[in-house]
Amino acid sequence: MSGPLHVYYGREILLYDFGPGHPFNQRRVELSVRLMEACGLFEGNGNTLRPIQKGTRDDALLFHEPGYIDFLARASETGRGVLDQGDTPAFPGCLDAALWGVGATLEALDTVMSGDGHAFSPGGGWHHGYRDHASGFCILNDGAIALAAARERFGIKRALYLDIDVHHGDGVFYGFYGDGWLLDVDFHQDGRTLFPGKGFVEEVGGGDAAGTKLNIPLLPGASDDAAFLAWREVAVPAIRAFRPELIVVQCGADAHEGDPLAMLEWSLGAYTEIIASVHTLAHEVSGGRLLLLGGGGYNPANVCLVWPAIAHAVGNVPLPERVPEPWRQSFENTYGVGAPERFSEPPTSATRPLRAAARCVEDLRRLSPLARGEKPASLSDE
Ligand SMILES: [Zn+2]
Ligand SMILES: [Zn+2]
Repeated sequence: MSGPLHVYYGREILLYDFGPGHPFNQRRVELSVRLMEACGLFEGNGNTLRPIQKGTRDDALLFHEPGYIDFLARASETGRGVLDQGDTPAFPGCLDAALWGVGATLEALDTVMSGDGHAFSPGGGWHHGYRDHASGFCILNDGAIALAAARERFGIKRALYLDIDVHHGDGVFYGFYGDGWLLDVDFHQDGRTLFPGKGFVEEVGGGDAAGTKLNIPLLPGASDDAAFLAWREVAVPAIRAFRPELIVVQCGADAHEGDPLAMLEWSLGAYTEIIASVHTLAHEVSGGRLLLLGGGGYNPANVCLVWPAIAHAVGNVPLPERVPEPWRQSFENTYGVGAPERFSEPPTSATRPLRAAARCVEDLRRLSPLARGEKPASLSDE
């Protein structure tokens, strides 16, 4: 059972550019989409690559404060200064650049909600953006805007936000901390060892939302086995019990082994298996409504394996064993380093982080009925 996958990407995504030397660079999105093309994703199963539209101020206001959008409009004109504590510099047109990403994600949401198939907005996934401030390279929070749009424009009563980026998706997590309609499952490297220093297991949601926020902090060195354990033992039962009507997944590729900003050691298999499983769950409980977003990823070779691999898995088009040669040339011309050669990697395992993940599973089962696969009393059927 599989609907087609529609990928929303246009070169306007490249306008989101903090300048040379900044680690966040959208050329990896361009190259990922070109690799999907080179591997035949858009030649089978009804999958398409679709152009994007710019989002509007009203779209941004679904999640963000008006005063913050005014601040961004001024910063956009001067292009000077920083938008947060220092990681996220302003640049000329930065508000418009962020609105292109928001527009892409909202178009993707429209497609998912229309029942036309699954959708992927690889240029988005800006999960650190807060209602009233930028953070961690994220000017706006397209995922949070899409969740608010699903609620306000499409009447969604329960949604899942799954975040497998190596950093905690704090903008979404705390943005909806008291909202029981959103189940938030966030895999990340332990906040004691990585930006943004948040996302601890005891934080399970406020008020009536208690139990709907599930943090899965993993120790540095955590590998495929730790990811699978937490996925199987906590995430899957929680999703089945919660029965979301929509699933949004932030697919940051920076938990992959060899990311220069983080220390987890997932292989490609961690991504493809988790995404294949959430895809199955989307058909099982969510009417097939599955929206994928991009996110972090600071080793371009890893990003360019992870995003095509998950797109081909959901779009149901097999990947070739070897990465096509013409694409490898364009990667090497862009980055001046060797391009990946194959789409297969050996699975990874690590004992101590696996034991820590098992303790995290126990803690979550104690703290949240959903983590035990039970529906919380506060959750309405409607
Ligand atoms: Zn499907
Ligand atoms: Zn990240």
